[in-house]
Amino acid sequence: MTRVLVVEDDAQLARALAINLRARTYEVDSAPDGASALRLAADKSPDVVVLDLGLPDMDGVDVIRGLRGWSRVPVLVLSARTGSEDKIRALDAGADDYMTKPFSMDELMARLRAATRRTEETLPTPYASHLVTTDEFTVDLVAKRVRRADRDVRLTPTEWHLLEILISHPGVLVSQRRLLQEVWGPSYSRKTNYLRVYMAQLRRKLEVDPSHPRYLITQPGMGYRFEA
Ligand code: CA
Repeated sequence: MTRVLVVEDDAQLARALAINLRARTYEVDSAPDGASALRLAADKSPDVVVLDLGLPDMDGVDVIRGLRGWSRVPVLVLSARTGSEDKIRALDAGADDYMTKPFSMDELMARLRAATRRTEETLPTPYASHLVTTDEFTVDLVAKRVRRADRDVRLTPTEWHLLEILISHPGVLVSQRRLLQEVWGPSYSRKTNYLRVYMAQLRRKLEVDPSHPRYLITQPGMGYRFEA
């Protein structure tokens, strides 16, 4: 059984999608806004997400970014926005496909089949769940919380963003340039001193011995890597 999460604030369209999907034996969960979409994605582990970009509480692109912190679930964007810029933003954030409203139900079904087929062929996701646990701390990628010794660790948004990128790619070297561009923006790609400062802060909060890190590893001159 394939499970679809439909994220759409237009109640009539959401209902039409659910009816059509159920008629084709999909299991359907519906979310009318971004926050409930992220919560349902974590609770129900859908096989594919159909996502409207214009949501009442947040931009659909931010829903994609939130999901991509911990999940590789295929995301098919349904949008009334026809501009190529919106399409590029959605695809860059990690959407797998993009359809412009109005759309034909048959085409949507064909694209859903293609999206779920692709996941069956690809590698398993780095984490089956949104919780990343080490001997020292636990990170909840959905709630955006870090716990250490039964207490919440307070992170600044910048520290969180850095940590999120690293732990979403366990064991993988993430280049200084990529971290700087993703966290601070394209014009900061040479500000490696920013990284040194923020990584030192993160280590003080998460490592037993910040000067000999076990989890947040530096590859000198290249980048950083998270070891679980
Ligand atoms: Ca909408």
